[in-house]
Amino acid sequence: MMGQQGGSQDKLFYAFNLDDHVPRSHLLRGIDCFFDLSELRHHLALFYSHTGRPSIDPELMIRMLIVGYSFGIRSERRLCEEVHLNLAFRWFCRLDLDAAVPDHSTFSKNRHGRFRESDAFRHVFESVLRRCMSEGLVTGEGFAVDASVIRADANRARGMRGTEVIDWNKGDGPSRAVREYLAALEESNPVSEDPSEPAGSPAVPKIISLTDPAARWTAAPGGPAFYAYSTNYLIDLKAGIIVDVEATPAHRTQEVDSTRKMIGRVEERFGLKPARLVGDTAYGTAPMLGWMVEDKHIAPHVPVWDKSERKDDTLSSSAFEWNARANEYTCPRGHALRSDRRQFKIHRERVTKADTVIYRSSQNDCKTCSMKDRCCLNTPTRKVARSIYETSRDVARSIATTPQYAQSRRDRKKVEMLFAHLKRILKLDRLRLRGLSGAQDEFLLAATAQNLRRMGKWLTTVPQTTSPMPA
Ligand code: SF4
Repeated sequence: MMGQQGGSQDKLFYAFNLDDHVPRSHLLRGIDCFFDLSELRHHLALFYSHTGRPSIDPELMIRMLIVGYSFGIRSERRLCEEVHLNLAFRWFCRLDLDAAVPDHSTFSKNRHGRFRESDAFRHVFESVLRRCMSEGLVTGEGFAVDASVIRADANRARGMRGTEVIDWNKGDGPSRAVREYLAALEESNPVSEDPSEPAGSPAVPKIISLTDPAARWTAAPGGPAFYAYSTNYLIDLKAGIIVDVEATPAHRTQEVDSTRKMIGRVEERFGLKPARLVGDTAYGTAPMLGWMVEDKHIAPHVPVWDKSERKDDTLSSSAFEWNARANEYTCPRGHALRSDRRQFKIHRERVTKADTVIYRSSQNDCKTCSMKDRCCLNTPTRKVARSIYETSRDVARSIATTPQYAQSRRDRKKVEMLFAHLKRILKLDRLRLRGLSGAQDEFLLAATAQNLRRMGKWLTTVPQTTSPMPA
């Protein structure tokens, strides 16, 4: 017999328990087990007035943001609608069936105001990380570092050459992202009188976005250039938990420099210092390896950045043997290359701007040598540049021959997988907030969501199959 849906929807009273309607295997249940915001109110107390109308509950806002970043809901308007309609989201946000969901404009205002001033997102990220540590998901034995480029919310067409003078006060005056950029510029170059002149900054970008000037004009392989930021992850290799995250403009030097900041912060805040650090060639520059080996005593599981190897048939620097005791190189013909062949009247350190010491052969040895054509065809002597960090580079080279290094190369995929997950599942392939602080907020929230998702999946035994959104 064909059934027919009966009854109407005009009942006044229901016996309804929200908890009964959220599946046991729902991802949010796993997340909820480990998400504790009990200290948030205390952390934010100074940023709220004791009088006036009560604000939106900060815990509700953070829970809504975690829902948004965990399920790839990028629009604040849509997030408010989804939380209004989805029972599991309501349950996670501690909202009753008839409780009001904040209006999206009020939501945005609060998010960009007090939360940024109070560094609330870092507080939440760190509290989740502490929970990961207490659950045994972080050992601190090995860390991996990497960066991924994320498009900024800036139109490609709205840019000017970095060498041009830009009037930032045109129209309605500078936006928040522009004000933030100018303040950072002034901080890095306090002597400059004109903030629109970036000549004193470390590097003048080729093109500056007028919408989000801190974003970097970046050429992606196979596609047109765009404005972007980089999210830098430092992860623990045991379970792939993100132990720190830092936003930088999409520029290799700034990405690499952020590693020092993250390693220092994790050591200071959590007492964690890895025995080994895994990274790609970008992290294998001489100063970086010197910092890892000599300053931090961390084993560099990183390929050495070395451009000295020659592709033709001529002799590369590696053909010359280093003799530390005599402070000289020995060439394949057995002659010495020394750094003190040139005599100066005034004492010099003999270290170049590139942080190298130049070792030279003797003209007498070379002029009769049968290998001269392959060694120094166009010059009377051969020069070999030795980095002042060469000992650290040698440490990295010797680690690269070990089986542990081969394992580290496999381990590095964990950080790459996190980036793939970030872009494909959490849909963070383009930022919605502008400025470096906007990027930092988004990256912190996404990393928090990734850690919570991982903890929820690793530590709950119920299979995670039912999810209202693609995850
Ligand atoms: S050219 Fe000079 S430096 Fe090169 S192999 Fe001959 S002697 Fe040695």
